[in-house]
Amino acid sequence: MKHLLNELSIYAAKLVDSGLVVGAGGNLSARDGEYMYISPSGFDLKEITEKEWVKVEIESGKVLSELKPSSELEMHLECFRRDPDIKAVLHAHPTYSVAVSSAGKEIRPMFPDYPAMVKRVSYIDYVIPTTNRIAEAVGEVVKESQAIVMRNHGVLTVGTTVKEAYFYMQLTEEAAKVYAISSMLGSPRVLTEEECFDLQNLSAETYRSSLLKKQK
Ligand SMILES: [Zn+2]
Repeated sequence: MKHLLNELSIYAAKLVDSGLVVGAGGNLSARDGEYMYISPSGFDLKEITEKEWVKVEIESGKVLSELKPSSELEMHLECFRRDPDIKAVLHAHPTYSVAVSSAGKEIRPMFPDYPAMVKRVSYIDYVIPTTNRIAEAVGEVVKESQAIVMRNHGVLTVGTTVKEAYFYMQLTEEAAKVYAISSMLGSPRVLTEEECFDLQNLSAETYRSSLLKKQK
């Protein structure tokens, strides 16, 4: 459990350092059996100590810590309730992912790592944040997604470890960035379905995916 909280603190700081969230935006959580730990409301993600992660019972949504959980608590709970294989949930507001999706476009695959690692990306239209409505909209697609791009808002990724969910977030944003820049320069050449299929079946990529699932 201590390891889990440490991992949450490390990746919370990375989300800020890599520019995926600014200010107190963004939130993350990890499952610990029947419970989950989520970032506290209003905190700078870089400043959450191990003791400050808010413990919540997944089934009932009962908050078991003094601190108030992130205002997106329901969205995180919904992910853990819908799929027992989900062990970590990250939510951020990355610039290029919001820009590309809000222009009505999908984040197209233009370099190998993105389709090889992030196999399923879903898109949802704008829903007012912090409500049950956003929790439901995310819940409906989370089981078949590794990344959910929320137009005019941000991105949510899930994984079997915090590290895995973090890599999906990074790769999704990198893909959006490359696609956006390429679109400004001309007509991007997007990887074909066949090229993506081949990448997803490369043994080297399968090996790398399996590495991500291991705890540090
Ligand atoms: Zn948000």
